[in-house]
Amino acid sequence: MSDTFRAILIIRDEAKNQSVAVTEISEADLMEGDVTVAVDATTVNYKDGLAITGKAPVVRRFPMIPGVDFAGTVLSSSHPDWKEGDRVILNGWGVGETHFGAYAAKARVKGDWLVPLPEGMSAATAMAIGTAGYTAMLSVMALERHGLTPDRGPMIVTGAAGGVGSVAVALLSKLGYHVIASTGRPAESGYLHDLGAAEIIAREELSGPAKPLNKERWAGGIDAVGSHTLANVLSMTSYGGAIAACGLAQGMNLPGSVAPFILRGVSLLGIDSVMAPKELRLEAWQRLATDLDHAKLEKLTTWIGFDDIIQAAHDIVDGKIRGRVVVAM
Ligand code: NDP
Repeated sequence: MSDTFRAILIIRDEAKNQSVAVTEISEADLMEGDVTVAVDATTVNYKDGLAITGKAPVVRRFPMIPGVDFAGTVLSSSHPDWKEGDRVILNGWGVGETHFGAYAAKARVKGDWLVPLPEGMSAATAMAIGTAGYTAMLSVMALERHGLTPDRGPMIVTGAAGGVGSVAVALLSKLGYHVIASTGRPAESGYLHDLGAAEIIAREELSGPAKPLNKERWAGGIDAVGSHTLANVLSMTSYGGAIAACGLAQGMNLPGSVAPFILRGVSLLGIDSVMAPKELRLEAWQRLATDLDHAKLEKLTTWIGFDDIIQAAHDIVDGKIRGRVVVAM
Protein backbone atom coordinates (compact mmCIF):
# COMPACT_ATOMS: atom_id res chain seq x y z
CA MET A 1 0.00 0.00 0.00
CA SER A 2 1.34 3.39 -0.96
CA ASP A 3 1.78 5.90 1.84
CA THR A 4 1.90 8.85 -0.50
CA PHE A 5 -0.94 11.31 -0.87
CA ARG A 6 -1.90 14.16 -3.16
CA ALA A 7 -0.85 17.75 -2.55
CA ILE A 8 -0.94 20.98 -4.52
CA LEU A 9 2.54 22.45 -4.70
CA ILE A 10 3.54 25.99 -5.70
CA ILE A 11 7.10 26.20 -6.97
CA ARG A 12 9.22 29.08 -8.21
CA ASP A 13 12.09 28.88 -10.69
CA GLU A 14 15.32 30.86 -10.66
CA ALA A 15 13.70 33.65 -12.68
CA LYS A 16 11.03 33.80 -9.91
CA ASN A 17 8.30 32.49 -12.22
CA GLN A 18 5.70 30.66 -10.20
CA SER A 19 3.93 27.46 -11.24
CA VAL A 20 1.41 25.18 -9.57
CA ALA A 21 1.02 21.43 -9.88
CA VAL A 22 -0.68 18.49 -8.20
CA THR A 23 1.94 16.11 -6.87
CA GLU A 24 2.34 13.10 -4.59
CA ILE A 25 4.13 13.51 -1.25
CA SER A 26 4.55 11.46 1.92
CA GLU A 27 4.38 12.36 5.61
CA ALA A 28 8.18 12.65 5.63
CA ASP A 29 7.87 15.62 3.23
CA LEU A 30 5.66 17.60 5.63
CA MET A 31 7.16 20.41 7.66
CA GLU A 32 7.96 20.41 11.34
CA GLY A 33 5.14 20.39 13.88
CA ASP A 34 3.87 18.46 16.87
CA VAL A 35 0.48 17.42 15.48
CA THR A 36 -0.25 15.54 12.24
CA VAL A 37 -3.80 15.94 10.98
CA ALA A 38 -5.86 14.20 8.29
CA VAL A 39 -7.46 17.07 6.37
CA ASP A 40 -11.21 16.29 6.19
CA ALA A 41 -12.29 19.52 4.52
CA THR A 42 -10.75 22.76 3.37
CA THR A 43 -11.85 25.78 1.39
CA VAL A 44 -10.76 28.41 -1.11
CA ASN A 45 -10.35 31.88 0.38
CA TYR A 46 -9.41 35.06 -1.49
CA LYS A 47 -5.91 34.73 -0.04
CA ASP A 48 -5.62 31.21 -1.47
CA GLY A 49 -6.59 32.68 -4.83
CA LEU A 50 -3.82 35.26 -4.53
CA ALA A 51 -1.33 32.53 -3.53
CA ILE A 52 -2.16 30.14 -6.38
CA THR A 53 -2.42 32.79 -9.09
CA GLY A 54 0.66 34.58 -7.74
CA LYS A 55 -1.22 37.90 -7.97
CA ALA A 56 0.10 38.99 -4.58
CA PRO A 57 3.13 37.81 -2.60
CA VAL A 58 1.13 35.66 -0.17
CA VAL A 59 3.56 32.74 -0.42
CA ARG A 60 6.84 33.65 1.22
CA ARG A 61 8.64 30.31 1.06
CA PHE A 62 8.96 27.93 -1.89
CA PRO A 63 7.99 25.22 -2.59
CA MET A 64 4.72 25.70 -0.71
CA ILE A 65 1.51 23.77 -0.24
CA PRO A 66 -1.14 26.52 -0.21
CA GLY A 67 -4.41 26.50 1.74
CA VAL A 68 -4.82 28.75 4.79
CA ASP A 69 -7.44 26.74 6.66
CA PHE A 70 -8.70 23.23 7.26
CA ALA A 71 -10.84 21.08 9.50
CA GLY A 72 -9.46 17.64 10.25
CA THR A 73 -8.84 14.74 12.57
CA VAL A 74 -5.66 14.34 14.60
CA LEU A 75 -3.61 11.32 13.43
CA SER A 76 -0.75 11.71 15.89
CA SER A 77 0.33 14.28 18.45
CA SER A 78 3.08 15.03 20.91
CA HIS A 79 1.30 18.21 22.01
CA PRO A 80 -0.35 17.97 25.46
CA ASP A 81 -3.69 19.45 24.25
CA TRP A 82 -4.30 17.00 21.39
CA LYS A 83 -4.60 13.24 20.93
CA GLU A 84 -5.39 10.91 18.06
CA GLY A 85 -9.00 11.25 16.93
CA ASP A 86 -9.53 14.85 18.11
CA ARG A 87 -11.45 17.00 15.63
CA VAL A 88 -9.71 20.32 15.03
CA ILE A 89 -9.81 23.55 13.01
CA LEU A 90 -6.88 25.59 11.78
CA ASN A 91 -7.05 29.18 10.48
CA GLY A 92 -4.03 31.22 9.51
CA TRP A 93 -0.77 31.35 11.50
CA GLY A 94 1.09 31.52 8.17
CA VAL A 95 -0.15 28.09 7.09
CA GLY A 96 -0.28 28.09 3.28
CA GLU A 97 2.13 31.06 3.29
CA THR A 98 5.30 30.05 5.16
CA HIS A 99 4.24 26.62 6.48
CA PHE A 100 2.78 23.79 4.33
CA GLY A 101 -0.98 24.26 4.16
CA ALA A 102 -4.33 22.61 3.68
CA TYR A 103 -4.26 21.45 0.04
CA ALA A 104 -2.99 17.97 0.85
CA ALA A 105 -4.57 14.93 2.46
CA LYS A 106 -2.44 15.50 5.58
CA ALA A 107 -0.91 18.48 7.34
CA ARG A 108 1.63 18.74 10.15
CA VAL A 109 1.31 21.88 12.27
CA LYS A 110 1.93 23.29 15.73
CA GLY A 111 -0.64 22.16 18.27
CA ASP A 112 -0.81 25.74 19.60
CA TRP A 113 -2.34 26.80 16.27
CA LEU A 114 -5.33 24.46 16.54
CA VAL A 115 -8.76 25.02 18.06
CA PRO A 116 -11.32 22.27 18.72
CA LEU A 117 -14.13 21.78 16.24
CA PRO A 118 -17.17 23.05 18.18
CA GLU A 119 -19.47 20.34 19.54
CA GLY A 120 -22.00 19.28 16.91
CA MET A 121 -20.27 21.07 14.01
CA SER A 122 -19.07 18.99 11.05
CA ALA A 123 -15.75 19.55 9.28
CA ALA A 124 -17.70 20.57 6.18
CA THR A 125 -19.70 23.18 8.10
CA ALA A 126 -16.53 24.54 9.68
CA MET A 127 -15.05 24.99 6.22
CA ALA A 128 -18.26 26.45 4.77
CA ILE A 129 -17.57 29.10 7.41
CA GLY A 130 -13.79 28.96 6.90
CA THR A 131 -11.37 31.79 7.49
CA ALA A 132 -13.74 34.16 5.69
CA GLY A 133 -16.61 33.39 8.07
CA TYR A 134 -14.37 33.38 11.13
CA THR A 135 -13.09 36.82 10.05
CA ALA A 136 -16.69 38.02 9.66
CA MET A 137 -17.32 36.84 13.25
CA LEU A 138 -14.17 38.57 14.56
CA SER A 139 -15.50 41.73 12.88
CA VAL A 140 -18.92 41.40 14.50
CA MET A 141 -17.25 40.85 17.91
CA ALA A 142 -15.13 43.99 17.43
CA LEU A 143 -18.23 46.05 16.57
CA GLU A 144 -19.98 44.69 19.67
CA ARG A 145 -16.97 45.54 21.85
CA HIS A 146 -17.31 49.06 20.49
CA GLY A 147 -20.86 49.06 21.88
CA LEU A 148 -22.85 48.81 18.67
CA THR A 149 -26.31 47.26 18.96
CA PRO A 150 -29.17 46.94 16.42
CA ASP A 151 -30.98 49.99 17.86
CA ARG A 152 -28.02 52.24 16.98
CA GLY A 153 -28.84 52.02 13.25
CA PRO A 154 -28.08 50.05 10.08
CA MET A 155 -24.91 48.10 9.31
CA ILE A 156 -23.18 48.27 5.92
CA VAL A 157 -21.42 45.19 4.53
CA THR A 158 -19.19 45.68 1.48
CA GLY A 159 -18.14 42.92 -0.91
CA ALA A 160 -21.40 41.41 0.30
CA ALA A 161 -21.67 38.54 -2.20
CA GLY A 162 -18.14 37.35 -1.37
CA GLY A 163 -17.16 34.95 1.42
CA VAL A 164 -16.58 37.39 4.29
CA GLY A 165 -19.50 39.53 3.10
CA SER A 166 -22.02 36.70 2.79
CA VAL A 167 -21.30 35.36 6.29
CA ALA A 168 -21.28 38.93 7.68
CA VAL A 169 -24.74 39.59 6.19
CA ALA A 170 -26.10 36.32 7.60
CA LEU A 171 -24.58 36.91 11.06
CA LEU A 172 -25.64 40.55 11.40
CA SER A 173 -29.20 39.88 10.26
CA LYS A 174 -29.54 36.95 12.70
CA LEU A 175 -28.35 39.32 15.47
CA GLY A 176 -31.18 41.72 14.55
CA TYR A 177 -29.36 44.38 12.56
CA HIS A 178 -30.81 46.20 9.54
CA VAL A 179 -28.19 45.14 7.01
CA ILE A 180 -27.30 47.20 3.94
CA ALA A 181 -25.37 45.00 1.49
CA SER A 182 -23.11 46.61 -1.10
CA THR A 183 -22.42 44.48 -4.16
CA GLY A 184 -21.11 44.84 -7.70
CA ARG A 185 -23.30 41.93 -8.74
CA PRO A 186 -26.94 43.10 -8.91
CA ALA A 187 -27.88 39.60 -10.08
CA GLU A 188 -27.07 38.43 -6.53
CA SER A 189 -29.70 40.69 -4.92
CA GLY A 190 -32.09 37.77 -4.34
CA TYR A 191 -29.29 35.75 -2.76
CA LEU A 192 -28.36 38.65 -0.45
CA HIS A 193 -31.99 39.23 0.57
CA ASP A 194 -32.26 35.50 1.35
CA LEU A 195 -29.20 35.81 3.61
CA GLY A 196 -30.92 38.62 5.48
CA ALA A 197 -29.96 41.88 3.75
CA ALA A 198 -32.71 44.49 4.19
CA GLU A 199 -31.32 46.79 1.48
CA ILE A 200 -28.93 46.35 -1.45
CA ILE A 201 -26.79 49.18 -2.80
CA ALA A 202 -24.58 49.20 -5.90
CA ARG A 203 -20.82 48.86 -5.46
CA GLU A 204 -20.39 52.02 -7.62
CA GLU A 205 -22.06 54.15 -4.93
CA LEU A 206 -18.97 53.61 -2.78
CA SER A 207 -16.10 52.84 -5.16
CA GLY A 208 -15.20 56.34 -6.40
CA PRO A 209 -13.17 59.05 -4.61
CA ALA A 210 -14.71 59.89 -1.20
CA LYS A 211 -15.67 63.29 0.21
CA PRO A 212 -14.23 63.94 3.69
CA LEU A 213 -17.75 63.71 5.14
CA ASN A 214 -21.01 62.65 3.56
CA LYS A 215 -24.61 62.10 4.68
CA GLU A 216 -24.76 59.73 7.68
CA ARG A 217 -26.17 56.42 6.46
CA TRP A 218 -25.12 53.68 8.92
CA ALA A 219 -23.97 53.21 12.51
CA GLY A 220 -21.30 50.71 11.57
CA GLY A 221 -20.23 48.05 9.17
CA ILE A 222 -17.86 45.39 7.94
CA ASP A 223 -15.63 46.31 5.02
CA ALA A 224 -13.96 43.55 2.97
CA VAL A 225 -12.95 45.93 0.17
CA GLY A 226 -10.64 48.73 1.42
CA SER A 227 -9.47 51.65 -0.77
CA HIS A 228 -12.06 54.25 -1.92
CA THR A 229 -14.86 51.99 -0.68
CA LEU A 230 -13.63 52.08 2.91
CA ALA A 231 -13.04 55.85 2.68
CA ASN A 232 -16.65 56.32 1.51
CA VAL A 233 -18.01 53.95 4.14
CA LEU A 234 -16.22 55.94 6.88
CA SER A 235 -17.46 59.26 5.47
CA MET A 236 -21.07 58.00 5.74
CA THR A 237 -20.82 56.51 9.24
CA SER A 238 -22.95 58.25 11.84
CA TYR A 239 -21.67 59.94 14.98
CA GLY A 240 -19.80 57.56 17.33
CA GLY A 241 -20.08 54.62 14.94
CA ALA A 242 -17.42 52.11 13.92
CA ILE A 243 -16.27 50.22 10.86
CA ALA A 244 -14.43 46.90 11.04
CA ALA A 245 -11.85 46.83 8.22
CA CYS A 246 -10.84 43.31 7.24
CA GLY A 247 -10.19 43.22 3.50
CA LEU A 248 -8.65 44.76 0.41
CA ALA A 249 -10.62 43.44 -2.58
CA GLN A 250 -10.58 46.93 -4.17
CA GLY A 251 -7.12 47.88 -2.91
CA MET A 252 -4.79 48.20 0.04
CA ASN A 253 -4.78 52.01 0.09
CA LEU A 254 -7.10 54.19 2.14
CA PRO A 255 -7.60 57.46 0.21
CA GLY A 256 -9.75 59.31 2.73
CA SER A 257 -9.55 62.04 5.35
CA VAL A 258 -9.49 62.13 9.15
CA ALA A 259 -12.79 64.07 9.15
CA PRO A 260 -14.96 61.06 10.18
CA PHE A 261 -12.62 60.40 13.14
CA ILE A 262 -12.20 63.94 14.45
CA LEU A 263 -15.60 65.42 13.59
CA ARG A 264 -17.89 62.43 14.14
CA GLY A 265 -15.89 60.31 16.59
CA VAL A 266 -16.02 57.40 14.15
CA SER A 267 -13.68 54.46 14.90
CA LEU A 268 -11.84 52.24 12.46
CA LEU A 269 -11.41 48.75 13.90
CA GLY A 270 -8.64 46.62 12.37
CA ILE A 271 -9.38 42.92 12.01
CA ASP A 272 -6.64 40.33 11.61
CA SER A 273 -7.55 36.67 11.63
CA VAL A 274 -4.09 35.23 10.96
CA MET A 275 -2.34 35.98 14.26
CA ALA A 276 -5.48 36.51 16.37
CA PRO A 277 -4.95 35.20 19.92
CA LYS A 278 -6.44 31.85 20.89
CA GLU A 279 -9.10 33.29 23.25
CA LEU A 280 -10.59 35.33 20.39
CA ARG A 281 -10.53 32.29 18.08
CA LEU A 282 -12.30 30.11 20.65
CA GLU A 283 -14.93 32.79 21.23
CA ALA A 284 -15.42 33.35 17.48
CA TRP A 285 -15.87 29.63 16.71
CA GLN A 286 -18.24 29.20 19.67
CA ARG A 287 -20.31 32.15 18.46
CA LEU A 288 -20.29 30.77 14.90
CA ALA A 289 -21.76 27.54 16.24
CA THR A 290 -24.68 29.41 17.80
CA ASP A 291 -25.16 32.73 15.96
CA LEU A 292 -25.08 31.58 12.35
CA ASP A 293 -28.21 30.25 10.71
CA HIS A 294 -27.09 26.93 9.22
CA ALA A 295 -29.82 26.95 6.56
CA LYS A 296 -28.37 30.25 5.36
CA LEU A 297 -24.87 28.82 5.48
CA GLU A 298 -25.98 26.07 3.09
CA LYS A 299 -27.36 28.69 0.71
CA LEU A 300 -24.01 30.45 0.50
CA THR A 301 -21.91 27.28 0.05
CA THR A 302 -20.69 25.67 -3.17
CA TRP A 303 -19.01 22.22 -3.07
CA ILE A 304 -15.97 21.34 -5.13
CA GLY A 305 -13.43 18.50 -5.23
CA PHE A 306 -9.67 18.55 -4.78
CA ASP A 307 -9.17 18.70 -8.58
CA ASP A 308 -11.21 21.93 -8.80
CA ILE A 309 -9.13 23.95 -6.30
CA ILE A 310 -6.80 25.59 -8.83
CA GLN A 311 -9.67 26.75 -11.06
CA ALA A 312 -11.61 28.05 -8.02
CA ALA A 313 -8.50 30.00 -6.97
CA HIS A 314 -8.51 31.80 -10.32
CA ASP A 315 -12.26 32.37 -10.13
CA ILE A 316 -12.15 33.94 -6.64
CA VAL A 317 -9.49 36.45 -7.73
CA ASP A 318 -11.63 37.26 -10.78
CA GLY A 319 -14.61 37.97 -8.48
CA LYS A 320 -16.63 35.07 -9.92
CA ILE A 321 -17.21 33.12 -6.71
CA ARG A 322 -20.39 33.68 -4.73
CA GLY A 323 -20.30 33.04 -1.00
CA ARG A 324 -18.09 30.21 0.20
CA VAL A 325 -16.43 27.26 -1.51
CA VAL A 326 -15.90 24.01 0.42
CA VAL A 327 -13.42 21.37 -0.73
CA ALA A 328 -14.36 17.84 0.25
CA MET A 329 -11.09 15.91 0.50
P1 NDP B 1 -14.20 37.06 -1.97
O1 NDP B 1 -13.50 37.17 -3.27
O2 NDP B 1 -15.10 35.91 -1.71
O3 NDP B 1 -15.04 38.40 -1.72
C1 NDP B 1 -14.56 39.67 -2.06
C2 NDP B 1 -15.72 40.47 -2.60
O4 NDP B 1 -15.30 41.82 -2.74
C3 NDP B 1 -16.18 40.04 -3.99
O5 NDP B 1 -17.07 38.97 -3.94
C4 NDP B 1 -16.86 41.32 -4.44
O6 NDP B 1 -18.14 41.39 -3.84
C5 NDP B 1 -16.00 42.42 -3.82
N1 NDP B 1 -15.01 42.95 -4.78
C6 NDP B 1 -14.14 42.25 -5.52
N2 NDP B 1 -13.39 43.09 -6.26
C7 NDP B 1 -13.79 44.34 -5.97
C8 NDP B 1 -13.41 45.64 -6.41
N3 NDP B 1 -12.45 45.82 -7.31
N4 NDP B 1 -14.06 46.69 -5.88
C9 NDP B 1 -15.03 46.53 -4.97
N5 NDP B 1 -15.46 45.34 -4.53
C10 NDP B 1 -14.83 44.25 -5.02
O7 NDP B 1 -13.08 37.13 -0.84
P2 NDP B 1 -13.21 36.84 0.73
O8 NDP B 1 -14.57 37.16 1.16
O9 NDP B 1 -12.61 35.52 1.02
O10 NDP B 1 -12.21 37.94 1.31
C11 NDP B 1 -12.58 39.31 1.24
C12 NDP B 1 -11.39 40.19 1.64
O11 NDP B 1 -11.09 39.97 3.01
C13 NDP B 1 -10.12 39.88 0.86
O12 NDP B 1 -9.46 41.09 0.59
C14 NDP B 1 -9.32 39.04 1.82
O13 NDP B 1 -7.95 39.11 1.58
C15 NDP B 1 -9.73 39.65 3.14
N6 NDP B 1 -9.58 38.75 4.28
C16 NDP B 1 -8.92 39.24 5.36
C17 NDP B 1 -8.77 38.49 6.49
C18 NDP B 1 -8.15 39.10 7.67
O14 NDP B 1 -7.62 38.38 8.52
N7 NDP B 1 -8.19 40.40 7.81
C19 NDP B 1 -9.22 37.09 6.53
C20 NDP B 1 -10.01 36.69 5.36
C21 NDP B 1 -10.13 37.51 4.27
P3 NDP B 1 -19.45 41.79 -4.68
O15 NDP B 1 -19.44 40.91 -5.89
O16 NDP B 1 -20.57 41.57 -3.75
O17 NDP B 1 -19.25 43.24 -5.03
